[in-house]
Amino acid sequence: MTPDTITCTECSGTAHRVGYPPPDDEPTAGEVVPYLCEDCGHRMDVVMDEADDEEHLT
Ligand SMILES: [Zn+2]
Repeated sequence: MTPDTITCTECSGTAHRVGYPPPDDEPTAGEVVPYLCEDCGHRMDVVMDEADDEEHLT
């Protein structure tokens, strides 16, 4: 699943997913999902992995 929010790597605030979730609500492996922090405006691109519980922050 693609989380709606993640923890900001810069300020530990709440970062919200930008844009639309996939139509079938299942992220494709290798898909890049952007998040934007509501507190500091830091943008993070999360690459979806095949394992649901594993994400890589860039
Ligand atoms: Zn932040």
